[in-house]
Amino acid sequence: MSDAVHLSLADDIALITIDNPPVNVASRAVRAGLMMALDRAEAAGVARVVLTGAGKTFVAGADAKEFSAPPRPPHLPDIANRIESFPVPVVAAINGAALGGGLELALACAARVAAPRATLGLPEVTLGVVPGAGGTQRLPRLVGLEQALSLIPEGRVIGAAEALRIGLVDAMTDDPVAAARILALPDRPATGARPAPACDPVAIEAARKQAARRSPQQIAPQRAIDLIEAAVRLSLAEGLALERQNFLDLKTGDQAAALRYVFFAERAAMGQGKAQGADVRSAVVVGGGTMGAGIAYALAGIGVTVTLVETDAAAVERARANIARLFDDAVKRGKASAERAASDMERLFTFRAGYDDLPPVDIAIEAVFEDLSIKRQVFAALDAALPETAILATNTSYLDPDRITEGLRNPTRFLGLHFFSPAHVMKLVEVIRARDTGPETLVTALRLAARLRKIPVLAGVCDGFIGNRILTRYRQCCDVMLIEGALPAQIDAAMRGFGLAMGPYEVQDLSGLDIAYANRKRLGWKTMPGFRYIPIADRIVEETGRLGRKTGAGWYDHTGGKAVSSALIDGIVVEESARAGIVRRRFTDAEIVARATAAMVEEGFRILGERIAERAADIDLVMIHGYGFPRWRGGPMHWAGRVGLSEILRRIEGYAAEDPLSWSVPDLLARAAAEGKTPEEL
Ligand code: NAD
Repeated sequence: MSDAVHLSLADDIALITIDNPPVNVASRAVRAGLMMALDRAEAAGVARVVLTGAGKTFVAGADAKEFSAPPRPPHLPDIANRIESFPVPVVAAINGAALGGGLELALACAARVAAPRATLGLPEVTLGVVPGAGGTQRLPRLVGLEQALSLIPEGRVIGAAEALRIGLVDAMTDDPVAAARILALPDRPATGARPAPACDPVAIEAARKQAARRSPQQIAPQRAIDLIEAAVRLSLAEGLALERQNFLDLKTGDQAAALRYVFFAERAAMGQGKAQGADVRSAVVVGGGTMGAGIAYALAGIGVTVTLVETDAAAVERARANIARLFDDAVKRGKASAERAASDMERLFTFRAGYDDLPPVDIAIEAVFEDLSIKRQVFAALDAALPETAILATNTSYLDPDRITEGLRNPTRFLGLHFFSPAHVMKLVEVIRARDTGPETLVTALRLAARLRKIPVLAGVCDGFIGNRILTRYRQCCDVMLIEGALPAQIDAAMRGFGLAMGPYEVQDLSGLDIAYANRKRLGWKTMPGFRYIPIADRIVEETGRLGRKTGAGWYDHTGGKAVSSALIDGIVVEESARAGIVRRRFTDAEIVARATAAMVEEGFRILGERIAERAADIDLVMIHGYGFPRWRGGPMHWAGRVGLSEILRRIEGYAAEDPLSWSVPDLLARAAAEGKTPEEL
């Protein structure tokens, strides 16, 4: 018997236990072990087989590591078929997560018993594929078309109680193995032998629209719907064959490769927080505005006590109201009871105006105005008020952390923790290693990020770190296209067409034009030598006072919740082209996308070349989780690798030849292209 699968025979029952820690993925060893165990159980002439998982999971799915290679037998669909046609009933005792291939095995069983903590789902579409071992054919036969449509195309995972309600499991009990041994089996055909569910064209059409809205341009969710629809008209054998063909076809495609890559990059980033280190139990958060309130609320969410420091009594009250609003939202969304929210706010928060009598906390996180001298005053005060063991972190977006630390007693415990807005929602945090940041400081911060269930990405010190630096370059490239002939709405639409959540001008309207304006001033773009300065955005702020949605107008007019192109803004754009002596030309959407993405990749290669980021994957995680880059394209660096670095190089060389002030080839890109490497190999 294989180590990954155990068989025990007693009382006419074969108990097969899948034991492949940590999460019992259906690796080749598990598949081979299962086939062997089933053969032995049959030879032993048992009356029933109970199939379960060791530890806390049933089977968490296929082994995504095997996805990049051709599948090796025995294949999961064959095991599912063997279970379904087994001479005696096989009952699944679902002790924990039954996901993907795990649920497909359970679906082939004669009945299913689940522990209350079990989770069930077919999340394959999140990896760019469809279920490949009968999920799309057996699930609709078991729970009906509508439920299958609500689960598979978005990869939704449900709890045992819901699974019981929709008929996905037959019973829920604390000891599913014991229950599976004695469960009275209803007299019914195997799932696969049941009649196909009734066709429901309305439900199918609704699911298609929903998938197109939720996962635009993604192939797998639509294919999953095709397959569920096929279950209505095809025999099981035909449906299974069609499903397998789709699975194998999607598996080798660009989208699945990108989604797998991001999945592993996330796992690696989150794994960094598993290192041994001190656990943060108490924190000071300085500044209770947009970011401070969100950070403080996130910390409280993992039981960290927070002392929130503001400037004066009025600011304290504003901060208190900001945090109370976050608790209220959670209550409204049904995430917490009103009593629980009130008691957490009372129990976990203290508010202070100033630094007198601060408790000796483990960490202080600063989120005050983006102003170097204010931040330096804050850190001087924290340095004096807190024990020397406390970690000091800044949430600055652009300022140089090494200048903020000047004069600190012990700069090794200082670092940047760059959260994204809203800080309690966004999963990304850039962990900025400042000049003197010590290793224990980093480890503690990474552990904290892991407890907050964030994706931490290590970054070195530079203007804007990874994400805002790429954003700045990308926007500058778009501004050049404006002055040469494009309009904001066209650029936004083209970038949305590529898959970005929003276009660059829509994003500015959301976050406020004043932020980028202040940044351009700080960098001195207007007078910077050797730099192609485009005055359009500055003119909008200085002459029109349109700062985005918060003022009802920015790049667009915002009326009745809609963004409408503005003749005034388009007029300024055209005027600036004339002033610069530029004859405006037509840009195709493809050209806009090619240039804007090349600008991101160009900056990404600089960041990698300077070792601001350690890996291309880190850059991709930042752009996906902080800036709406489409996950299914794998991030700008992965995407560049798929396009081919020599092609990207050729594009940038072409742009640089016509506009050397805006473009130049990063050394690392030239080298990687010459050596035929992908960004991931650098
Ligand atoms: P904000 O204006 O909403 O809040 C700043 C808060 O700091 C205010 O409540 C203010 O009263 C308080 N404050 C100012 N000086 C203080 C002092 N000396 N002591 C104590 N409190 C003080 O600003 P924000 O958007 O929360 O940004 C805060 C920081 O986070 C900035 O450095 C910003 O660059 C950074 N950041 C912002 C975002 C974002 O999207 N808003 C994202 C990432 C990082």
